[in-house]
Amino acid sequence: MALYTSASAVNERLKSIKTRFLIISDTHGLDLSYHKPLVPADVVLHCGDLTEHSKFSEIQATIQLLRSISAPLKLVIAGNHDWTLDKLAYELKVAEAKKIDPTCSDHDIEKAFGKYGAVRRLLEAAREHGILFLEEGVHNIRLHNGSNLKLYASPYTPSNGGEWGFQYNSSHDFDIPDVDVVMTHGPPLGIMDRSGRDRIGCSQLFTAVRKAQPRLHCFGHVHKGWGGKLVAWRKQVSESPCHFNDIDNNNSEVIGSLLHPPELAEFKDPIQPETTLFVNAALEADGALSQRPWLVEMDLSAHTEKEVSIQGSRYGRSAKPHASVLEMSAESIGPLHTAKRV
Ligand SMILES: [Zn+2]
Repeated sequence: MALYTSASAVNERLKSIKTRFLIISDTHGLDLSYHKPLVPADVVLHCGDLTEHSKFSEIQATIQLLRSISAPLKLVIAGNHDWTLDKLAYELKVAEAKKIDPTCSDHDIEKAFGKYGAVRRLLEAAREHGILFLEEGVHNIRLHNGSNLKLYASPYTPSNGGEWGFQYNSSHDFDIPDVDVVMTHGPPLGIMDRSGRDRIGCSQLFTAVRKAQPRLHCFGHVHKGWGGKLVAWRKQVSESPCHFNDIDNNNSEVIGSLLHPPELAEFKDPIQPETTLFVNAALEADGALSQRPWLVEMDLSAHTEKEVSIQGSRYGRSAKPHASVLEMSAESIGPLHTAKRV
């Protein structure tokens, strides 16, 4: 009997569960009329830029957009446009607005953008609709299909000079451990990050992803970089990791780009070890969400009772009706304002 229990526990641990991710980004407060109805998924990943101007009404529209997608869980991060979620950026924007227009009152600002904290509270209240706003850090999430998702999230992008949210001037520490999925607002340097002639991805993010080698890294930010690329990594991590040295281009494959649109924006093959599927899921182009969401199917390991006891739960089963969907670990409370503004 003891032997049977042990073998069954091992089988349970080895069991993998097919999980469908619908990936979107850069919806900028617009609607999904181009794409209705979207296919149902287990998890929606929204990689930031929920708004265009960070208006309260745009966040409300984004919550409606997310609610319209058939999926029990929607994971959401901020982008540079969503500065009302970044305390320092909020204060700078308000100061700037008052400098430009001295007649601009706190009441005017709060009417359009909400007080600092109001947008975060709105997103937190959307948890009852399966919408989970993620701070920067590692998140262990129990999914409704019985699998366990380990995901790293970060809204930070390199500064391009303007006053935006979640940006840094010189460097940012992307502390990515061994995870299934990396979800950032911006791309790593060299991968679907071309804005005109320039590449505007982040080299530190590239290094962190190269070392962690997640199976999936999704992002947006660079709208014209929409696409998918299956990257095979070289065996050795180079001394200064970069897309020239570390990607085995002979064994890598472009799944789709705006120049070469795929028939279906989806990937269902198993993602092999030493390979990462990169997806740029920016939907907005010319004022509409005309670029396609990505669908990625991935095997995740089954959730075990052991993991529940190790990780605990930030939101107890009895306290939150959605605890059957989400089992957040303590490490999910990542640092938020770690970037230095120079
Ligand atoms: Zn955007």
